[in-house]
Amino acid sequence: MPHHLWMQEDHHAFADSVQRFFAEEFQPHRDQWKKDGLVPKEFWKKAGDIGILGATLPEEYGGMGLSRHFDAVSFMEQAKIGDTGWGFSVHNIAAHYITAFGTAQQKERWLPEIASGDKVAAIAMTEPGTGSDLQAVKTSAIKDGNEYLINGSKTFITNGGSADLIVLVAKTDPTSRSKGVSLIMIETEGLEGYSVGRKLDKMGMKRNDTAELSFQDVRVPQTNLIGTDEGQGFYQLMKQLPWERLIIGYQALGAMQCAVETTLEYVKERKAFGQRVMDFQNSRFKLAEAATKIELLAAMLDQCLAELELGTLTAEKAAMAKWWGTQAQCDIIDECLQLHGGYGYMNEYLISELYTDARVQKIYGGTNEIMKELIARSMDKD
Ligand SMILES: Cc1cc2nc3c(=O)[nH]c(=O)nc-3n(C[C@H](O)[C@H](O)[C@H](O)COP(=O)(O)OP(=O)(O)OC[C@H]3O[C@@H](n4cnc5c(N)ncnc54)[C@H](O)[C@@H]3O)c2cc1C
Repeated sequence: MPHHLWMQEDHHAFADSVQRFFAEEFQPHRDQWKKDGLVPKEFWKKAGDIGILGATLPEEYGGMGLSRHFDAVSFMEQAKIGDTGWGFSVHNIAAHYITAFGTAQQKERWLPEIASGDKVAAIAMTEPGTGSDLQAVKTSAIKDGNEYLINGSKTFITNGGSADLIVLVAKTDPTSRSKGVSLIMIETEGLEGYSVGRKLDKMGMKRNDTAELSFQDVRVPQTNLIGTDEGQGFYQLMKQLPWERLIIGYQALGAMQCAVETTLEYVKERKAFGQRVMDFQNSRFKLAEAATKIELLAAMLDQCLAELELGTLTAEKAAMAKWWGTQAQCDIIDECLQLHGGYGYMNEYLISELYTDARVQKIYGGTNEIMKELIARSMDKD
């Protein structure tokens, strides 16, 4: 399994405590939470207590002020146990919008409760009528006195059912495309006109309450505009999306490792034609190819993360890591499932959960087609 050169003693110690946390606090409940279709709020608080949620948030706002490598550790550890349902990644992304663009008052107001897990965060971009074309969002936030009047609907929102704080992508100027987009914080508790629609019935990510959200004449104070100027939302999104794509990449990496580990266990036990499935050359080659792709993805992601911390990561490079990593994830998991034979198709085997969870990785965070478009655009500049 890959050796990340950046991992020093403190990263290993953090990884150990995250591993222990998942083993003790998550694993005993994984089947129940799958049935429930969400992870309970107490779990979020426990994650906050051990520092998973606030690791990279500023210390003055309840975080630990660590580098994003520590988040990468947590995302990999979660994926290594075969879960993507607990929506900690989206919670983390929402927090980074506030850290990067919020005013001091906004950080003070929202970050400590995100770091502690007292509040669950979500980010709402996608609408029933538009996903990839973000500039075409229709949800409007129109100034009215010192409030915004918000109307519209969102769909496929991770943590949508339980979110207390939502970074909402809305048009403060519906006549413009990118220049009309702003990010507005929604505090959902007791908010008139705000409602959560049905919990969506998905093929995977069963532990997440992905939902539709509706806003009907919702009013929020103007001070909920993230940052100080309207029309900055598209720029803010473009600045943060590379991190979101690296997160997806690290989740892919962890899931690939989980798939190979669980498959190795299986093929070393299972016999066919009087020998271990592991002994067939096809099995050996498939697993060797998977191990190679894991190393390649780790090297690519680690390079991107180093560039992100230096402030030099380009959108196209993050897009490369996202599409290639998630494609490799889906390919490897498919091959690992095949090595399980019919048992791989049974829900009681972890590989089948990995298979259904993996598919969405090529869709959210910007589809892989959009990733390739971004890369090609960077190659077609005059
Ligand atoms: C489980 C799950 C969780 C999600 N979580 C969130 C969340 O928390 N917050 C949020 O805001 N969204 C979330 N999403 C939404 C996700 O980001 C969108 O589904 C995704 O961006 C694609 O948008 P769409 O579904 O509208 O597809 P469309 O944009 O309609 O795309 C349909 C197809 O057309 C292709 N296509 C579109 N434009 C182009 C182009 N220019 N060139 C080539 N091909 C193109 C796409 O690649 C795709 O194959 C989630 C989705 C799922 C399934």
